[in-house]
Amino acid sequence: MKINEIYGMSVVLQNAINIDPIHPGRKSKTLFGGLASMSSQNSPEAMGHLIQQKPYYLSAGDEIKLFEVAFAAKIPLMLKGPTGCGKTRFVEYMSYRLKRPLITVACHEDLFASDLLGRYLLKKDETVWVDGPLTRAVRMGAICYLDEIVEARKDTTVVIHPLTDNRRTLSIDKKGELVQAHPDFMVVISYNPGYQSVLKDLKQSTRQRFVSLEFDYPEAQKEAEIVSHEGDIGMDTALKLVTLAGKIRNIREHGLTEGASTRLLIYAAQIIRRGIPVHEACRSAICFPLTDDARLQETLNDLVEDIF
Ligand code: ADP
Repeated sequence: MKINEIYGMSVVLQNAINIDPIHPGRKSKTLFGGLASMSSQNSPEAMGHLIQQKPYYLSAGDEIKLFEVAFAAKIPLMLKGPTGCGKTRFVEYMSYRLKRPLITVACHEDLFASDLLGRYLLKKDETVWVDGPLTRAVRMGAICYLDEIVEARKDTTVVIHPLTDNRRTLSIDKKGELVQAHPDFMVVISYNPGYQSVLKDLKQSTRQRFVSLEFDYPEAQKEAEIVSHEGDIGMDTALKLVTLAGKIRNIREHGLTEGASTRLLIYAAQIIRRGIPVHEACRSAICFPLTDDARLQETLNDLVEDIF
């Protein structure tokens, strides 16, 4: 048996017999002669991806329980919801709670499968293989959070398919390696149905591999608590910002593609806290980022004047 030191403390055993993680009693031989990857949970790399400080997270319902159950059952998770409503913060919180490393990839239209898997790089006179973020997560047993997955190129979704069913494998064609996922590895994707278009939609063959959690803006009192905490301002101003957001979210159908996010409310709070007058802060942090349309801007300004 040939043993290669590939990445940090991970080793690849050629021609090894893999244990099926879903059915531990069942042994399987993998495509390329049976490659098993094992990475210490305490490897320096895994430790580097652990979240050290408890993230502030206000729960909206039973999403924490559902995440824990999905993690235990090795079921991939899809977080659906508008931008800036707390999906990323939730994953950070769960990573801390479960004491698992977190690797986040912000997907974009130039993201290729090879960006996730890894590539050969020239170092001095040698070519060395460097694992990409997904491969690292698979080896070390991290939670891999693929943020806005629909933005990525189509070949990336093909790569994650075998990871999201009972095979739990990652195929690295360029190396001729099939990596068996660490038992604690978990895929979480986020998806904003508001951006949905014919060109950028998640295929059924992909979406039907995930248990889905619906996210939305927190209910008013909770959202105000969040804005007050994160923006370090009083509850009275936070509540007014949330009221403003509520009204903006109601006029969404009349031309705005998305309502004001919790994130924007926090920005407004943060700049108010630092001395920017409240009207100006609302315009800069909430109204201007939402739309370029002059008529809509007027409507938004009127709402600000009404509330503050
Ligand atoms: P998304 O990933 O949905 O785009 P984020 O998780 O980045 O949004 O949320 C934006 C910000 O809103 C976070 O950085 C955090 O400050 C705040 N936030 C939103 N929801 C919550 C929540 N439930 N608990 C704590 N903070 C929250």
